[in-house]
Amino acid sequence: MKRTKIKDILRSTETDVPVLVKGWVKTFRSNQFIALNDGSCNANLQIVVDFNNTPEETLKRITTGASLSIQGQLIKSLGKGQSVEIKAEKVEVLGDSDAEKFPLQPKKHSLEFLREIAHLRFRTNTFGAIFRVRNSLAFAVHQFFQEKGFVYIHTPIITSSDAEGAGEMFRVTTLNLNQLPKNEEGQIDFQQDFFGKSTNLTVSGQLEGELAAMAFSDIYTFGPTFRAENSNTARHLAEFWMIEPEMAFYDLNDNMDLAEELLKYVIKYAWDKNYEDLEFLNTRLLEEEKLKPQQDRSELNLLDKLKFCLENSFERVTYTQAIEILKESNHNKKKKFQYLVNEWGVDLQSEHERYLVEKHFKKPVILTDYPKKIKAFYMRQNDDDKTVRAMDILFPGIGEIVGGSQREERLDKLVSRMNEMNIPTHELDWYLDTRRFGACEHAGFGLGFERLVLFVTGMTNIRDVIPFPRTPKNCEF
Ligand code: ATP
Ligand code: MN
Repeated sequence: MKRTKIKDILRSTETDVPVLVKGWVKTFRSNQFIALNDGSCNANLQIVVDFNNTPEETLKRITTGASLSIQGQLIKSLGKGQSVEIKAEKVEVLGDSDAEKFPLQPKKHSLEFLREIAHLRFRTNTFGAIFRVRNSLAFAVHQFFQEKGFVYIHTPIITSSDAEGAGEMFRVTTLNLNQLPKNEEGQIDFQQDFFGKSTNLTVSGQLEGELAAMAFSDIYTFGPTFRAENSNTARHLAEFWMIEPEMAFYDLNDNMDLAEELLKYVIKYAWDKNYEDLEFLNTRLLEEEKLKPQQDRSELNLLDKLKFCLENSFERVTYTQAIEILKESNHNKKKKFQYLVNEWGVDLQSEHERYLVEKHFKKPVILTDYPKKIKAFYMRQNDDDKTVRAMDILFPGIGEIVGGSQREERLDKLVSRMNEMNIPTHELDWYLDTRRFGACEHAGFGLGFERLVLFVTGMTNIRDVIPFPRTPKNCEF
């Protein structure tokens, strides 16, 4: 007989048929009722064991975490809580799980504890839901771009350009660290390294993405990026996944429209595909919020928040307007910000971003036209000589989720900005070629995939939305 996944069983309308299911035991009550889960959905399947006709030996081995194969009849359930259940005819224990030693007990564990046993946490309801949602979001990203005719480009993971300055980089080397070769100037001689030069893990695929956009018009990347930033926050990982579309003949407005459409599309996709998981996460969050003081609780629950985001257009404001709002805010006047906002030109901290989104506008916000001195060299310069065509999308509970810009396509402007910022133009000659041969208006952005998953799942720590998080002093599994 062929195995049926639990999700399909729970959906089927046909009862009184024989079925074969396989999965892991969540709980086993009264020597009779097994809650079985196979990861295909959040819900468990109830298996009713005929304990009079099942060997004592087998019953003893049905413990939380054990894997089972069960043959039986699918019948209408007599109990509450499920519409169908399986009347077991043959129960086979495939893999035992010592109840004394199995770390996941059928009770609530803290997220911190589960992080320590990340190799097992997939089997919890919470992480089952999170990673099914993550899967859908990833698929939806591809579907969105593919439907629009974007070309998926694989940009390199190992790079020799460290010019972008998006973050601190991880070095890639095969040199013997105990015996580093030195050149005549006494510096490390990377000519002897694997690639014959100094190399790092990529912090962004954007520059290479731009090269491809100058041929295919519309491209996107979706891959891992690495930043050795020593920021131990709930929103930063050392290894994270980023989606970076790059579009020729797009200006900043087109860029913002695309980003907003993408975010809504993928959220809607997860809503339709994973509604049960989202409901589960919604309940989880409500319970967690009950433990918080009233003023720290969110005004909207998870489902309402997602719906709100789908139904409202994002507020578009300039950095300059945002600074005015922040400066004039009671929060600032009462010195409630850790970093007070008193002058134009400062970089916004996440507390400011969240104030704008959660307290002031109460919806996702796109900030544009940032001061050039806090943004990267490739952003298109405005005529005011002070700001660039940048845009960051800020989300409730998250802060920055997208960072993007219209790119500087004018060779002279780009080169002079690079010179001002001491970025060696000879190292990026290949990049400058796009401005020499058929340059055109273009734009793009980077969407941090884990920040998106954080938002959609309502989780609060980014370590809980990637299977095996890499953060400072932590690289387990
Ligand atoms: P932040 O100010 O939050 O550190 P950033 O300005 O460094 O972000 P960008 O360089 O614009 O971010 O990267 C694009 C997107 O990648 C961000 O909007 C964010 O969603 C995501 N991102 C950036 N750094 C990290 C990180 N360390 N971990 C997870 N996601 C990140
Ligand atoms: Mn950063």
